[in-house]
Amino acid sequence: MSVASRDIVKRVKDGFVNKRGRAIQDCEERKQEVYAAVPGVQEIDMELSQTAFDVLTAITKGSDVAKEIEKQKEINALRRKRRAELLCAAGYPADYTDVKYECTKCNDNGYIGINMCSCLKNAIAHASLEASGVGALAHKQNFDNFSFDYYNGEDRSRMERNYNALRDYAEGFSGKGDDSWMLMGNTGLGKTHLSTAVAVRVIEKGYDVVYETMQTLMDDFSENQFRGGSSESVAKYYEADLLVVDDLGSELTNQFTVSVLYNLINQRANKNKATVFSTNLTQKELRERYADRIVSRLFGMYKPLLFKGSDIRAQKLSEGRR
Ligand SMILES: [Zn+2]
Repeated sequence: MSVASRDIVKRVKDGFVNKRGRAIQDCEERKQEVYAAVPGVQEIDMELSQTAFDVLTAITKGSDVAKEIEKQKEINALRRKRRAELLCAAGYPADYTDVKYECTKCNDNGYIGINMCSCLKNAIAHASLEASGVGALAHKQNFDNFSFDYYNGEDRSRMERNYNALRDYAEGFSGKGDDSWMLMGNTGLGKTHLSTAVAVRVIEKGYDVVYETMQTLMDDFSENQFRGGSSESVAKYYEADLLVVDDLGSELTNQFTVSVLYNLINQRANKNKATVFSTNLTQKELRERYADRIVSRLFGMYKPLLFKGSDIRAQKLSEGRR
Protein backbone atom coordinates (compact mmCIF):
# COMPACT_ATOMS: atom_id res chain seq x y z
CA MET A 1 0.00 0.00 0.00
CA SER A 2 1.38 3.41 -0.93
CA VAL A 3 1.74 6.35 1.46
CA ALA A 4 -1.18 8.06 -0.28
CA SER A 5 -3.57 5.15 0.16
CA ARG A 6 -2.45 4.59 3.76
CA ASP A 7 -3.37 8.22 4.41
CA ILE A 8 -6.78 7.68 2.85
CA VAL A 9 -7.47 4.60 4.97
CA LYS A 10 -6.37 6.41 8.11
CA ARG A 11 -8.56 9.42 7.28
CA VAL A 12 -11.60 7.24 6.66
CA LYS A 13 -11.05 5.27 9.88
CA ASP A 14 -10.65 8.49 11.87
CA GLY A 15 -13.90 9.63 10.29
CA PHE A 16 -15.58 6.48 11.62
CA VAL A 17 -14.34 7.12 15.16
CA ASN A 18 -15.74 10.67 14.94
CA LYS A 19 -19.01 9.49 13.43
CA ARG A 20 -19.51 6.93 16.19
CA GLY A 21 -18.64 9.50 18.87
CA ARG A 22 -21.11 11.94 17.37
CA ALA A 23 -23.90 9.34 17.29
CA ILE A 24 -23.34 8.63 20.98
CA GLN A 25 -23.18 12.30 21.86
CA ASP A 26 -26.33 13.12 19.85
CA CYS A 27 -28.09 10.33 21.71
CA GLU A 28 -26.95 11.77 25.05
CA GLU A 29 -28.33 15.18 24.03
CA ARG A 30 -31.69 13.68 23.09
CA LYS A 31 -31.78 11.93 26.47
CA GLN A 32 -31.19 15.18 28.34
CA GLU A 33 -33.93 16.79 26.25
CA VAL A 34 -36.35 14.01 27.18
CA TYR A 35 -35.37 14.09 30.86
CA ALA A 36 -36.25 17.77 30.94
CA ALA A 37 -39.51 17.33 29.02
CA VAL A 38 -40.94 14.03 30.22
CA PRO A 39 -41.14 13.40 33.98
CA GLY A 40 -40.36 9.85 35.07
CA VAL A 41 -38.01 8.82 32.26
CA GLN A 42 -34.78 9.72 34.01
CA GLU A 43 -35.88 7.78 37.11
CA ILE A 44 -36.59 4.71 34.98
CA ASP A 45 -33.13 5.00 33.34
CA MET A 46 -31.49 5.16 36.77
CA GLU A 47 -33.40 2.06 37.87
CA LEU A 48 -32.37 0.27 34.67
CA SER A 49 -28.72 1.17 35.17
CA GLN A 50 -28.84 -0.27 38.69
CA THR A 51 -29.94 -3.71 37.54
CA ALA A 52 -26.57 -5.36 38.06
CA PHE A 53 -26.27 -3.82 41.51
CA ASP A 54 -29.78 -4.97 42.43
CA VAL A 55 -29.00 -8.53 41.32
CA LEU A 56 -25.79 -8.53 43.38
CA THR A 57 -27.57 -7.20 46.44
CA ALA A 58 -30.22 -9.88 46.19
CA ILE A 59 -27.58 -12.61 45.79
CA THR A 60 -25.61 -11.46 48.83
CA LYS A 61 -28.88 -11.73 50.74
CA GLY A 62 -29.04 -15.40 49.76
CA SER A 63 -31.24 -15.37 46.66
CA ASP A 64 -30.81 -17.87 43.82
CA VAL A 65 -28.71 -16.28 41.04
CA ALA A 66 -30.61 -17.59 38.02
CA LYS A 67 -33.96 -16.85 39.60
CA GLU A 68 -32.90 -13.33 40.55
CA ILE A 69 -31.65 -12.56 37.02
CA GLU A 70 -34.91 -13.86 35.56
CA LYS A 71 -36.88 -11.67 37.95
CA GLN A 72 -34.86 -8.57 37.04
CA LYS A 73 -35.36 -9.25 33.35
CA GLU A 74 -39.11 -9.22 33.81
CA ILE A 75 -38.98 -6.03 35.89
CA ASN A 76 -36.78 -4.35 33.30
CA ALA A 77 -39.08 -5.35 30.44
CA LEU A 78 -41.91 -3.61 32.31
CA ARG A 79 -39.70 -0.58 32.91
CA ARG A 80 -38.84 -0.34 29.22
CA LYS A 81 -42.47 -0.70 28.26
CA ARG A 82 -43.44 2.08 30.70
CA ARG A 83 -40.58 4.23 29.38
CA ALA A 84 -41.75 3.82 25.78
CA GLU A 85 -45.30 4.71 26.82
CA LEU A 86 -44.11 7.87 28.54
CA LEU A 87 -42.14 8.91 25.44
CA CYS A 88 -45.04 8.26 23.07
CA ALA A 89 -47.52 10.07 25.31
CA ALA A 90 -45.24 13.10 25.18
CA GLY A 91 -45.11 12.92 21.38
CA TYR A 92 -41.66 11.27 20.99
CA PRO A 93 -40.95 8.10 19.01
CA ALA A 94 -40.32 5.15 21.33
CA ASP A 95 -36.74 4.81 20.05
CA TYR A 96 -36.02 8.53 20.30
CA THR A 97 -33.21 8.09 22.84
CA ASP A 98 -31.56 5.09 21.13
CA VAL A 99 -28.12 5.64 19.60
CA LYS A 100 -28.69 6.16 15.86
CA TYR A 101 -25.78 4.53 14.06
CA GLU A 102 -25.47 4.96 10.31
CA CYS A 103 -24.61 1.27 9.89
CA THR A 104 -26.62 -1.09 12.06
CA LYS A 105 -24.44 -4.05 11.04
CA CYS A 106 -21.33 -2.76 12.82
CA ASN A 107 -22.72 0.19 14.85
CA ASP A 108 -20.24 2.40 12.98
CA ASN A 109 -17.28 0.47 14.34
CA GLY A 110 -16.23 -0.37 10.76
CA TYR A 111 -15.53 -3.93 11.87
CA ILE A 112 -17.64 -6.93 12.74
CA GLY A 113 -15.31 -8.93 14.94
CA ILE A 114 -12.03 -8.88 13.03
CA ASN A 115 -13.68 -8.50 9.62
CA MET A 116 -14.00 -5.14 7.93
CA CYS A 117 -17.67 -4.21 7.50
CA SER A 118 -18.93 -3.45 3.99
CA CYS A 119 -19.66 0.15 5.08
CA LEU A 120 -15.97 0.78 5.87
CA LYS A 121 -14.84 -0.96 2.65
CA ASN A 122 -17.22 1.23 0.65
CA ALA A 123 -16.10 4.39 2.42
CA ILE A 124 -12.44 3.59 1.66
CA ALA A 125 -13.27 2.82 -2.00
CA HIS A 126 -15.24 6.05 -2.24
CA ALA A 127 -12.45 8.17 -0.74
CA SER A 128 -9.93 6.47 -3.04
CA LEU A 129 -12.12 7.29 -6.04
CA GLU A 130 -12.18 10.94 -5.04
CA ALA A 131 -8.41 10.98 -4.60
CA SER A 132 -7.73 9.01 -7.80
CA GLY A 133 -8.92 11.75 -10.12
CA VAL A 134 -11.89 9.69 -11.35
CA GLY A 135 -14.21 11.51 -8.94
CA ALA A 136 -17.53 12.42 -10.51
CA LEU A 137 -16.92 10.29 -13.62
CA ALA A 138 -17.21 7.16 -11.48
CA HIS A 139 -20.99 7.36 -11.35
CA LYS A 140 -21.42 8.11 -15.05
CA GLN A 141 -18.85 5.75 -16.50
CA ASN A 142 -18.65 2.23 -15.18
CA PHE A 143 -19.11 -1.26 -16.64
CA ASP A 144 -22.78 -1.38 -15.61
CA ASN A 145 -23.88 1.64 -17.61
CA PHE A 146 -21.90 1.10 -20.81
CA SER A 147 -24.23 0.86 -23.81
CA PHE A 148 -23.56 -1.00 -27.07
CA ASP A 149 -26.55 0.71 -28.73
CA TYR A 150 -24.38 3.17 -30.62
CA TYR A 151 -22.29 0.53 -32.37
CA ASN A 152 -23.32 -1.45 -35.42
CA GLY A 153 -22.20 -4.63 -37.15
CA GLU A 154 -18.48 -5.31 -36.98
CA ASP A 155 -17.94 -2.26 -34.75
CA ARG A 156 -20.35 -3.68 -32.25
CA SER A 157 -18.66 -7.09 -32.04
CA ARG A 158 -15.34 -5.31 -31.70
CA MET A 159 -16.70 -3.20 -28.83
CA GLU A 160 -18.08 -6.28 -27.12
CA ARG A 161 -14.62 -7.86 -27.31
CA ASN A 162 -13.00 -4.67 -25.94
CA TYR A 163 -15.56 -4.42 -23.16
CA ASN A 164 -15.12 -8.06 -22.15
CA ALA A 165 -11.33 -7.87 -22.27
CA LEU A 166 -11.22 -4.79 -20.04
CA ARG A 167 -13.90 -6.00 -17.65
CA ASP A 168 -12.15 -9.35 -17.18
CA TYR A 169 -8.88 -7.48 -16.74
CA ALA A 170 -10.34 -5.21 -14.02
CA GLU A 171 -12.03 -8.14 -12.26
CA GLY A 172 -8.83 -10.13 -12.25
CA PHE A 173 -6.49 -7.26 -11.40
CA SER A 174 -3.84 -8.44 -8.95
CA GLY A 175 -1.59 -5.40 -8.50
CA LYS A 176 1.52 -7.17 -9.76
CA GLY A 177 2.44 -8.00 -13.34
CA ASP A 178 -0.94 -7.09 -14.79
CA ASP A 179 -1.13 -6.22 -18.50
CA SER A 180 -0.81 -2.67 -19.73
CA TRP A 181 -3.12 -1.35 -22.45
CA MET A 182 -3.21 1.17 -25.22
CA LEU A 183 -6.79 2.16 -26.10
CA MET A 184 -6.75 3.63 -29.59
CA GLY A 185 -9.40 5.27 -31.74
CA ASN A 186 -11.18 8.49 -32.55
CA THR A 187 -12.92 10.71 -30.01
CA GLY A 188 -16.33 9.67 -28.75
CA LEU A 189 -16.03 5.90 -29.12
CA GLY A 190 -16.06 4.93 -25.45
CA LYS A 191 -12.33 4.87 -24.64
CA THR A 192 -12.71 7.20 -21.68
CA HIS A 193 -15.82 5.40 -20.49
CA LEU A 194 -14.07 2.02 -20.43
CA SER A 195 -10.79 3.28 -18.99
CA THR A 196 -12.76 5.01 -16.20
CA ALA A 197 -14.69 1.78 -15.66
CA VAL A 198 -11.41 -0.12 -15.24
CA ALA A 199 -10.18 2.48 -12.73
CA VAL A 200 -13.42 2.35 -10.73
CA ARG A 201 -13.48 -1.46 -10.56
CA VAL A 202 -9.80 -1.74 -9.60
CA ILE A 203 -10.29 0.88 -6.85
CA GLU A 204 -13.31 -1.04 -5.59
CA LYS A 205 -11.08 -4.08 -5.35
CA GLY A 206 -8.92 -2.08 -2.94
CA TYR A 207 -5.99 -1.11 -5.21
CA ASP A 208 -4.31 2.24 -5.41
CA VAL A 209 -5.27 3.88 -8.71
CA VAL A 210 -4.36 7.21 -10.24
CA TYR A 211 -6.46 8.52 -13.11
CA GLU A 212 -5.46 11.65 -14.98
CA THR A 213 -5.52 13.23 -18.39
CA MET A 214 -2.13 13.43 -20.08
CA GLN A 215 -2.33 17.22 -19.92
CA THR A 216 -2.79 17.33 -16.13
CA LEU A 217 -0.12 14.69 -15.63
CA MET A 218 2.36 16.81 -17.60
CA ASP A 219 1.30 19.96 -15.73
CA ASP A 220 2.12 18.17 -12.47
CA PHE A 221 5.53 17.09 -13.74
CA SER A 222 6.45 20.52 -15.08
CA GLU A 223 5.24 22.19 -11.87
CA ASN A 224 7.46 19.78 -10.03
CA GLN A 225 10.44 20.40 -12.29
CA PHE A 226 10.33 24.12 -12.86
CA ARG A 227 8.54 25.60 -9.88
CA GLY A 228 10.14 23.52 -7.16
CA GLY A 229 7.04 21.54 -6.27
CA SER A 230 7.39 18.60 -3.92
CA SER A 231 8.31 15.39 -5.68
CA GLU A 232 5.40 13.89 -3.74
CA SER A 233 3.08 15.49 -6.28
CA VAL A 234 4.43 13.22 -9.02
CA ALA A 235 5.40 10.19 -6.91
CA LYS A 236 1.84 8.89 -7.22
CA TYR A 237 2.33 8.41 -10.97
CA TYR A 238 5.21 6.02 -10.34
CA GLU A 239 3.73 4.28 -7.31
CA ALA A 240 0.06 3.68 -8.09
CA ASP A 241 -0.84 0.01 -8.60
CA LEU A 242 -2.65 1.14 -11.74
CA LEU A 243 -2.11 4.36 -13.66
CA VAL A 244 -4.79 5.38 -16.15
CA VAL A 245 -3.85 8.21 -18.49
CA ASP A 246 -6.53 9.67 -20.72
CA ASP A 247 -5.77 11.37 -24.02
CA LEU A 248 -2.11 10.63 -24.70
CA GLY A 249 -1.10 13.11 -27.40
CA SER A 250 -3.31 15.96 -26.16
CA GLU A 251 -0.34 17.50 -24.35
CA LEU A 252 2.04 20.01 -25.85
CA THR A 253 4.88 17.74 -26.89
CA ASN A 254 8.47 18.84 -26.32
CA GLN A 255 11.76 17.41 -25.11
CA PHE A 256 10.65 17.66 -21.50
CA THR A 257 7.32 15.87 -21.92
CA VAL A 258 8.94 13.16 -24.04
CA SER A 259 11.54 12.47 -21.37
CA VAL A 260 8.87 12.42 -18.63
CA LEU A 261 6.82 9.95 -20.64
CA TYR A 262 9.85 7.77 -21.33
CA ASN A 263 10.83 7.66 -17.64
CA LEU A 264 7.29 6.98 -16.56
CA ILE A 265 6.86 4.06 -18.95
CA ASN A 266 10.23 2.61 -17.95
CA GLN A 267 9.89 3.01 -14.22
CA ARG A 268 6.43 1.51 -14.17
CA ALA A 269 7.63 -1.40 -16.29
CA ASN A 270 10.59 -1.95 -13.95
CA LYS A 271 8.24 -2.02 -10.98
CA ASN A 272 5.98 -4.47 -12.83
CA LYS A 273 3.08 -2.03 -12.57
CA ALA A 274 0.28 -1.69 -15.07
CA THR A 275 -0.68 1.40 -17.06
CA VAL A 276 -3.64 2.14 -19.32
CA PHE A 277 -3.24 4.84 -21.95
CA SER A 278 -5.95 6.06 -24.24
CA THR A 279 -5.21 8.09 -27.34
CA ASN A 280 -6.90 9.55 -30.41
CA LEU A 281 -3.66 9.23 -32.34
CA THR A 282 -2.97 6.46 -34.81
CA GLN A 283 0.19 4.37 -34.61
CA LYS A 284 1.64 6.49 -37.41
CA GLU A 285 0.83 9.74 -35.60
CA LEU A 286 2.33 8.39 -32.39
CA ARG A 287 5.54 7.58 -34.29
CA GLU A 288 5.67 11.08 -35.68
CA ARG A 289 5.14 12.67 -32.31
CA TYR A 290 7.24 10.59 -29.94
CA ALA A 291 10.76 9.27 -30.08
CA ASP A 292 11.25 5.73 -31.37
CA ARG A 293 12.36 4.54 -27.96
CA ILE A 294 8.91 5.46 -26.58
CA VAL A 295 6.81 4.12 -29.42
CA SER A 296 8.68 0.82 -29.59
CA ARG A 297 8.15 0.35 -25.84
CA LEU A 298 4.47 1.28 -26.07
CA PHE A 299 3.84 -1.22 -28.82
CA GLY A 300 6.17 -3.82 -27.39
CA MET A 301 4.77 -3.85 -23.88
CA TYR A 302 1.22 -2.54 -24.16
CA LYS A 303 -1.72 -4.46 -25.56
CA PRO A 304 -3.43 -2.36 -28.22
CA LEU A 305 -7.24 -2.20 -28.30
CA LEU A 306 -8.84 -0.55 -31.32
CA PHE A 307 -12.07 1.43 -30.98
CA LYS A 308 -14.09 1.96 -34.15
CA GLY A 309 -17.50 3.35 -34.99
CA SER A 310 -19.16 6.72 -35.31
CA ASP A 311 -18.88 9.37 -32.61
CA ILE A 312 -21.32 8.54 -29.80
CA ARG A 313 -21.57 12.12 -28.60
CA ALA A 314 -22.53 13.25 -32.09
CA GLN A 315 -25.12 10.46 -32.31
CA LYS A 316 -26.61 11.43 -28.95
CA LEU A 317 -26.73 15.09 -29.98
CA SER A 318 -28.55 14.37 -33.21
CA GLU A 319 -31.01 12.13 -31.30
CA GLY A 320 -31.68 15.07 -28.99
CA ARG A 321 -32.48 17.30 -31.96
CA ARG A 322 -34.91 14.85 -33.50
ZN1 LIG B 1 -20.85 -1.20 8.99
